[in-house]
Amino acid sequence: MEKSVSLINNLNSDTIHLTYDTVEQCPICKAKIRPVYLAASLNTPDTASVFDYCQNCNETFITQYKVQRKDPRSSYYNVTEVVYSEPNRFSKHIFDERIINLSPQFDKIYNQALAAESSMLDEIAGLGYRKALEFLIKDFAIHEHPDEEESIKAKPLAKCIKSYITNENITTLAERSAWIGNDEAHYIRKQEDRDVSDMKAFIQAIVYFIGMILITEDAASMTQKK
Ligand SMILES: [Zn+2]
Repeated sequence: MEKSVSLINNLNSDTIHLTYDTVEQCPICKAKIRPVYLAASLNTPDTASVFDYCQNCNETFITQYKVQRKDPRSSYYNVTEVVYSEPNRFSKHIFDERIINLSPQFDKIYNQALAAESSMLDEIAGLGYRKALEFLIKDFAIHEHPDEEESIKAKPLAKCIKSYITNENITTLAERSAWIGNDEAHYIRKQEDRDVSDMKAFIQAIVYFIGMILITEDAASMTQKK
């Protein structure tokens, strides 16, 4: 929602006018909100902060924007970029119990990567998601091929995907996630148009397909009672 407010330019005490899009999600409780505006300040010629109140969790937060004047002498400013909303509280991703039982390390590492991402440590988050993916795929491969546990643990991820994952949806998603994940670990990025958010979406889809297989296996283990 677009909003216009008047605020003090801290550099010279002039009043200026800022037009910006209000945040749609509270950084603390993660609810979809219409924040209550409390105050704003122009901190430097091109950064402004807006101080808001969330009616869902009754907390206050600050959003920092990159701004620019509509023209060089104008007192009217537009936002060019949202820099951050703080405090950005981390909320754990809750996986299905079947996934946690299959790979407790996946659950742990994925959520550590998510915590890093919530703290704007995006370079570290990418590495974390790549590691989480490896545990998920290998633990699933071990679940499907328990006799080959040692060889699965020792093989590189790409080889495990090729040798042990038979579900085509999972193979496609895991291979592509690994490509992006390898970029996160290396100096040169090969998948320039893909990033951590794509890898996360692919991992979520893998979790879904593995979950469906585990449920199906559970159903298949039933025997008819006479
Ligand atoms: Zn809130």
